[in-house]
Amino acid sequence: MQCVQFDVRGQILEHLKKYPQAVLEKLDSVDISLNVDGLPLFESNNQSLWPVLCCINLSPKSIFPLSLALVSSKPTSLNFISETVSKLENVMQNGLEWGDKVIRVQIRCITCDAPANALVKCIKQYSGYFGCDRCTQKGFWDGRMTYQEVENLTLRTDQSFREVTQLEHHHEGKTSPFSNLSIDMVTSFPVDYMHQCCLGVMKKLLLLWTKGKKETRMSSGQIKEVSVRLEQLKTAIPNNFARKPRGLEHLERWKATEFRQFALYTGKLVLRGVLQDDLFEHFMAFSVAMCMLISPSLVQAHCSYVHELLSFFVQQGRFLYGECFLVYNVHSMLHLAADAKKIGCLDNCSAFPFENYLHHLKKLVRSGRSPLVQIVKRLNEGGSLRRELTEKEGKVSSKHPNNIYMLNDKACCEVLSTTPEKNDGTQMFLCRVYNHLEPYTSSPCDSRLYGAIRTNIRNTSMKLLSEICLKQRAIMFEEEYGSRVFFTILHSFS
Ligand SMILES: [Zn+2]
Repeated sequence: MQCVQFDVRGQILEHLKKYPQAVLEKLDSVDISLNVDGLPLFESNNQSLWPVLCCINLSPKSIFPLSLALVSSKPTSLNFISETVSKLENVMQNGLEWGDKVIRVQIRCITCDAPANALVKCIKQYSGYFGCDRCTQKGFWDGRMTYQEVENLTLRTDQSFREVTQLEHHHEGKTSPFSNLSIDMVTSFPVDYMHQCCLGVMKKLLLLWTKGKKETRMSSGQIKEVSVRLEQLKTAIPNNFARKPRGLEHLERWKATEFRQFALYTGKLVLRGVLQDDLFEHFMAFSVAMCMLISPSLVQAHCSYVHELLSFFVQQGRFLYGECFLVYNVHSMLHLAADAKKIGCLDNCSAFPFENYLHHLKKLVRSGRSPLVQIVKRLNEGGSLRRELTEKEGKVSSKHPNNIYMLNDKACCEVLSTTPEKNDGTQMFLCRVYNHLEPYTSSPCDSRLYGAIRTNIRNTSMKLLSEICLKQRAIMFEEEYGSRVFFTILHSFS
């Protein structure tokens, strides 16, 4: 194994320096997230890159590596992580000297997919009998590992983890390098919604509907109908989405962002009236729960309701799809609401920004010779020291479909044109404002709660609005007879 260790303190300081002075002056502590994941480098051999990435959770986020290891196949030792973690421990204990003050450093979370999570925590894989890292239930082997208990789960705690109270959960004789840090060894490793909800549960449902058992599969005509509807939505998806919807014939190639788009927004539209009612109602519980856990304000206000929705989703999933539905990713939905509440919202602990950075790192390798040398050289050239922008916000546009906004819970609008800038730099926007917002659906709850509404072009008036009103972007879908559906864009684009 080849490994490059960066100076952890130096890296954090260097990236902090890029923030405006006004931000830094107020800073007493800095909140970081970590990510450990493997990335295959070449198709011709099984070499993979295992970076430990750090994200400074300021706006915009800044992501950079703390170490890079090159391994053939899977890493067998955690030495490459141990060294990084011990440097981090030093930084957490002593803080960062910054002028005449010391900035404390704290870890918000360590985001990994399930296999990497098991590796870095020295615990059994999710496919093992005691593989859930949040509760102590024993799995049930049903062709693959499933977790049948839904209620009265015994949760793991930092203490039970450190005292190894359930021996079968841990790899005997191995201790996670992270246990040297003053973090909670259970809740600091949250469920990652990119892997577990988007690439996990959402993909699983779509595969069940297209390739699963006859009773829960859509007919070929229905699959085609959903694909046609997805294609039709292309023109409604704003440019801050990385991808436009594409049909189910491409499902195997869908990326995580496409599953997210389907789970949060388009699925509600394209499945309605096509997927059988009980399966649609079940999907809606998942979709609405995701919508609410992504929004910081809704998470705090409705966490226990969302947990009920997700419990229903898991229980009812067993009834609809059989016991084999309760695989680890589905089971982990029972732990999702608590994680989102603790960390603020799902976007605060997701792998999406890290995943983008990993792709960026991969692009720095242009040939098979000394990949680590190439990466470090190109990082030093400044290639990746750019600041990761959290949101492609940009200017207010009057061009469809980038001109849609929610104004408040009683009105939404389309920006139609822009007036010339005044001397003081302000601008006004001519908007078609929609009133009389009805819920898009009332099941499982009034959808206005998570910003999904229906209105009609008859309920509009023209108004001049200032930029300050146009903060919350939305998506508008046109239906027949002047009906319009608006979905608030809930997730962050980082
Ligand atoms: Zn569990």
